[in-house]
Amino acid sequence: MPRLSPFVDPEIMLFNVSALLTGSVGDEIKFHFADETIEIEDLLYREVEARGKLMRTDRTVFADLKVKAVADAECSRCLVDTDIPISINFTEEFRPINADLMQSHRNWFDEFGTDEIDEALTIDSTNTLDISTALWQALSAAMPMNPLCNTDCKGLCSGCSADLNNKICRCSADRSPALNLIQ
Ligand SMILES: [Zn+2]
Ligand SMILES: [Zn+2]
Repeated sequence: MPRLSPFVDPEIMLFNVSALLTGSVGDEIKFHFADETIEIEDLLYREVEARGKLMRTDRTVFADLKVKAVADAECSRCLVDTDIPISINFTEEFRPINADLMQSHRNWFDEFGTDEIDEALTIDSTNTLDISTALWQALSAAMPMNPLCNTDCKGLCSGCSADLNNKICRCSADRSPALNLIQ
């Protein structure tokens, strides 16, 4: 199989997969990119690194990647800005609008229904596979619900909002005598 030039400049996450669609089952494009940024709807992933391949199946292009990224988040306990590293295995099938290029599946969209088209997983009419939205979705699904700056984060004092990681709050000291008085 000839080695394809996978990237359509300047967008490193766009792949021209014409040769895969007109090729044979099992053909693949291997690729690696690093230090990219994916930002959709204010949720930004930095230092995105992906390594893996796009592979032709009988009626789709299957992506199999190892992906790492860093997300900006706020610690759910102390609210400090925190880098959250994310590492995922990404596998998705991308479906070509031009299914007629795949000899065995000329009428792919007719056969499998047009109401199930997921734009993030559709190879467009120019045979460009844009992996960025699907990657963003997978990274977002892997984001922790309650990110932490550190698993031992002590959080903020509920009394004075002091960051208990950085200082010893006086609230507890001040309260104890008061509690003692009440008792
Ligand atoms: Zn924290
Ligand atoms: Zn306090």
